[in-house]
Amino acid sequence: MPTDFDIAIVGSGYAGSIMAMVARRLGRRVLLLDKSKHPRFAIGESSTPLANLLLEEIATEFDLPQLLPLTAWGPWQRTHPKIGCGLKRGFSFYHHTAGQPFSPRHDRSNELLVAASPNDEVADTHWYRPDFDQFLAQEAAKLGVDLIEEVDLEKPEFTPTGVKLSGRHKGTRHSWTTGLLIDATGPDGFLHRQLGLKENPFPHLPETQALFGHFTGVARWADLMAGQAGSPPYAPDDAALHHVFDGGWMWVLRFNNGITSAGVSVTPTLAAQLNLSEGEPAWRRFLDRFPSIGEQFRNAAATRPFTHAPAVGFRCAEVVGESWCLLPSAAGFMDPLLSTGFPLALLGIQRLGRTLRDSPSQQALAGYQTETLADLAIVEELVSALFARMDDFGTFTALTMLYFAAASFSESAKRLGRGELAPGFFLRGHEVFRAGLLDCCHRARNGSPSGALVADIRRRVEPFNVIGLFNPARRNWYPVDFEDLYRDAAKLLASRDDIDVFLHKAGLR
Ligand SMILES: Cc1cc2nc3c(=O)[nH]c(=O)nc-3n(C[C@H](O)[C@H](O)[C@H](O)COP(=O)(O)OP(=O)(O)OC[C@H]3O[C@@H](n4cnc5c(N)ncnc54)[C@H](O)[C@@H]3O)c2cc1C
Repeated sequence: MPTDFDIAIVGSGYAGSIMAMVARRLGRRVLLLDKSKHPRFAIGESSTPLANLLLEEIATEFDLPQLLPLTAWGPWQRTHPKIGCGLKRGFSFYHHTAGQPFSPRHDRSNELLVAASPNDEVADTHWYRPDFDQFLAQEAAKLGVDLIEEVDLEKPEFTPTGVKLSGRHKGTRHSWTTGLLIDATGPDGFLHRQLGLKENPFPHLPETQALFGHFTGVARWADLMAGQAGSPPYAPDDAALHHVFDGGWMWVLRFNNGITSAGVSVTPTLAAQLNLSEGEPAWRRFLDRFPSIGEQFRNAAATRPFTHAPAVGFRCAEVVGESWCLLPSAAGFMDPLLSTGFPLALLGIQRLGRTLRDSPSQQALAGYQTETLADLAIVEELVSALFARMDDFGTFTALTMLYFAAASFSESAKRLGRGELAPGFFLRGHEVFRAGLLDCCHRARNGSPSGALVADIRRRVEPFNVIGLFNPARRNWYPVDFEDLYRDAAKLLASRDDIDVFLHKAGLR
């Protein structure tokens, strides 16, 4: 029996829609279903250099030029000024102590700024998801994907030829048959619930909770720091701004439409102290606890009700089955701390796209499951270590260097056409880096004293350090300085000329 569709995707967030576009470009008949209707709120907004590189690769590999302008701030603003977006020049961290105002120090030991791009043109972005996801769902429909919103789906039925999906749409019951079902509904999503898939909690990560919303009137942090000496490598608010404190952290992401996304992710202890499930009153308690953050939000007004996420971390034990698979974003998520949601989802889309091109076998899908679960495991190592040292900012800063080294080394290697030097997400396929990361994260979680641990992290990072990390002269402010890359070209088995070519090709020089 032929099926109505080759592929049905449940969930038309950015991930489901891009997956649908890829499948369509591969000549498949694609159905895209969603229980809600665009534009709709979605959380998860901050992109990274690796996420944008993956988006670029997907655009090129699967002939989707409409994605290219969305890979950097400059072309996005010229091409789609109406799709809400935030400028992200880097990662800004400030460490706070409860009850005390933040006070900048001469050695900048309570802050960390790491630039991700040398200028606004090529900078990363925050995706204003109501606009962004709607645009992508519409683009998918333009390519011939059958997009059906506001569908209330029932439990799927598995047949010898694939899957039968049924559900109610506009008061009428419909059924569709498909060869493959892809779940893009996010953590604890459609197939996890309908098939009763087993959960496999992260062993090291605390059971964090989150409280978040969208606001207007959030002050720029730089204005509160107006007296600070020196000129930072980029405006600290044009970034993913993190406030870090004992028991958790906060994100502040500014969009160009007057809206700022902000939220906290905290350990169960702090969540209980704040009584986080209460929503707005808990938010006020949090702002009272950290006076400088309170000052930043003094005139802020929420534009939508607060969302309380009682369990942020989630991992499904199974990622694929007979005629179905989960996108990485449905397979698991630990915490937004290192903005890993987007690159992991895009990596999964790229992998599945390649599998579909070669006509998918159960063996290929099993390989996809192994890779997806290994990616989640390595991210958990680092995120859980960071959570363990939220109140020890020196160690926290050193641990983030594992992330910045892996990300910048991987990006540079890929852009040099030497992707084989950077195997796996977070270099997890690189034996030397992996061993160093696992050891340092293990010790960080187990209370290893800061001095020796920081020295060791520095030693482990050095062979992969191509952006001048740990340079004491920078006092925790890291601009993009291409001299670092030229000096360390040999670590990438490259010459100065190779670096020149790559920087020009990437529009970085
Ligand atoms: C608090 C928080 C902050 C985050 N911040 C970041 C960040 O800064 N950077 C980053 O990279 N990642 C971040 N993430 C991760 C990010 O949110 C996810 O990677 C991303 O949203 C996944 O997108 P998606 O399209 O797969 O799913 P979603 O955006 O969740 O979309 C799922 C879609 O599926 C639909 N759906 C759900 N259930 C059903 C059903 N039963 N039937 C039909 N349709 C259904 C929904 O209506 C929705 O449209 C964050 C996550 C959290 C929880």
